[in-house]
Amino acid sequence: MKTNSVADYFGSLVFDDRQMRARLSSKVYASLHKTIDEGKKLDPAVAESVAQAMKEWALEKGATHFTHWFQPLTGVTAEKHDSFITPSPDGSVIMEFSGKELIQGEPDASSFPTGGIRATFEARGYTTWDPTSYAFIKDNTLCIPTAFCSYGGEALDKKTPLLRSMEALNRQCLRILKLFGNTSVKYVRTSVGPEQEYFLITKEMYDLRPDLRFTGRTLYGARSPKGQEMDDHYFGVIKPRVQEFMCDLNDELWKLGVLAKTEHNEVSPAQHELAPIYATTNIATDQNQLTMEIMQKVAAKHGLVCLLHEKPFAGVNGSGKHNNWSMATDTGVNLLSPGDTPYENAQFLLFLCAVIKAVDDYQDLLRLSVATAGNDHRLGANEAPPAIISVFLGDELSAILDAIEKDEPYAGTEKKIMKLGVDVLPAFPRDSTDRNRTSPFAFTGNKFEFRSLGSSNSIACANIMLNAAVAESLKIYADRLEGAEDFEKTLHEMIRKTIADHKRILFNGNGYDDAWVKEATEVRGLCNYRTTPDCMPHLLDDKNVRMLTEHKVFSKKELESRCEIMLENYCKQVHIEANTMIDMAGKDILPAISEYADMLSGTVSAKRAVAQGLACRYETAVVTRLSELADAVFEKKGELEAAVAGLADAKDIIEESAMIRDTLLPKMDELRSAADEAETMVSSEYWPYPSYGDLLFSVR
Ligand code: ADP
Ligand code: MG
Repeated sequence: MKTNSVADYFGSLVFDDRQMRARLSSKVYASLHKTIDEGKKLDPAVAESVAQAMKEWALEKGATHFTHWFQPLTGVTAEKHDSFITPSPDGSVIMEFSGKELIQGEPDASSFPTGGIRATFEARGYTTWDPTSYAFIKDNTLCIPTAFCSYGGEALDKKTPLLRSMEALNRQCLRILKLFGNTSVKYVRTSVGPEQEYFLITKEMYDLRPDLRFTGRTLYGARSPKGQEMDDHYFGVIKPRVQEFMCDLNDELWKLGVLAKTEHNEVSPAQHELAPIYATTNIATDQNQLTMEIMQKVAAKHGLVCLLHEKPFAGVNGSGKHNNWSMATDTGVNLLSPGDTPYENAQFLLFLCAVIKAVDDYQDLLRLSVATAGNDHRLGANEAPPAIISVFLGDELSAILDAIEKDEPYAGTEKKIMKLGVDVLPAFPRDSTDRNRTSPFAFTGNKFEFRSLGSSNSIACANIMLNAAVAESLKIYADRLEGAEDFEKTLHEMIRKTIADHKRILFNGNGYDDAWVKEATEVRGLCNYRTTPDCMPHLLDDKNVRMLTEHKVFSKKELESRCEIMLENYCKQVHIEANTMIDMAGKDILPAISEYADMLSGTVSAKRAVAQGLACRYETAVVTRLSELADAVFEKKGELEAAVAGLADAKDIIEESAMIRDTLLPKMDELRSAADEAETMVSSEYWPYPSYGDLLFSVR
């Protein structure tokens, strides 16, 4: 029985503002806040005081260790625990934690992916405290969110470029706001609310599937007789066992200060979603990483396994993550919310245009920011947005932009031609069609929802590219407006020009439609990068390198290393999948088919011993087909083995990833399809793995 209310234990494991205010002197508190809010350099004496207060608090909570918690390019978080103990001369220990230990750590960087930035002999890497994200306690360890970089200062993580991109966007937003007379704004931050999808299956079933254990997805599996076709799962009644899991999960997340808010069943059987209330982007990013980790831990406690893979099951929807994104000032103004005065409206339209232009100019960066081997199975598969990036604005707002572009009267303004900066925008309702689920990038009233992210992706990558690209649009606008003789006229012209130049990226229709792919690519000239090897090399296109380095989000060297690491991750992942398939086919599937066919053949002999000349049509047909399928599995397995061996000839990672896309993955499909057909014919007693039906309907 829980006796205290959520309000009492919310954030109890976080060294949050309440703790800082209570435990720090007012001078130290104020100085720390200057760093947190305005990015002012941290005073070492302040760090010392904060470290002491943090330690006292952590010890009170029973913590024994501390760790610099960071996000290397593996995609998961990393931590190396140190205990607080320091020996005393009398043989006892005291618990110590210094300002230096809070600010900087020095984990051995040689085991983390660096993409050639750092030769292994130079193993030093540094972690640096990010005071803008609160420290927290997990498993009796004080976790200090940190950035991770090499000895030479290159970022080896996702937090560093994310913070840089937020700063870049802040700089340009402030320039624009100043032009509109908003001089009291101190900073602009982006906020994100990531909706997280996942599957839950039972641990018993999971343990019986080597493919799930090694790769996170099923590599074989005939379709279940019942899938998602009844549409009876979405928002359906949550099963008691899942409900218990969700309650526990909420508790754990609330203690960690994560504003877990909404939970419901998703489209596929066994699929669910959790959405927190939005937070500042770098905090939302840290918390989403934490959420994914806690989901897995809590599931384990309930005898369940939480699958975060983008496509654990063929034939039913996979899991994504919706990145709800907005920009707001420290004075509480959402820059993507239309205002009440002409100036506020014009400002809103300018920010809106900045996003439209950014998405069009940097479609490739947005696409590759969500590219992984897992997500390649979703995008464009009629369950998630297509691989083509486009923007949904809804009918009302589209009509307004259209009228502005053409200098035509808009119905909502009493048939008046709108002059930006003079006329008030007609009130437009949050478009009812915002339930358009097929758009990769949808405006939903006061925020944009980027829907292409995969469920296991860190949201850092998508937000880095989004922030940087919007900063670039705003920079171009600010450069022009700051030098303009007639502000209003220039503004009006700039907005019109943006609409005219970038309307090709606007699309309110059905993104799942084949006709859209044709129109987008052939008429509008939009990018359609279907796979990771297709898009990733574009990270190094001149225009992208120029933009990202100019805004100091990445150095050229960092970009080269990231491109290599992302492709390496892709290759490694599919390589492991191929090896797992080969192993399963050889050790389990072929023997099972043989044994079953053998048993049936025995039945035929036995029957004929009783009554000579019996047709035994069923047994004969099954044995014949299974024999063919066993041969097919055997041959396809051999071909896949050869394809895997062939990867050794690739001259670089780009060629290797292309070979994987063109040879390995198609061979894997062929092998699977023979094995899946066999599964439908072999008695479940003989089949070595739980079926899709067993897996998808295992939690009751
Ligand atoms: P749905 O997309 O399913 O309709 P909601 O409208 O509930 O979901 O919102 C989804 C997410 O968007 C939530 O995490 C919510 O906190 C977040 N969100 C709401 N307003 C903003 C905003 N201004 N900026 C960023 N995220 C926001
Ligand atoms: Mg949503």
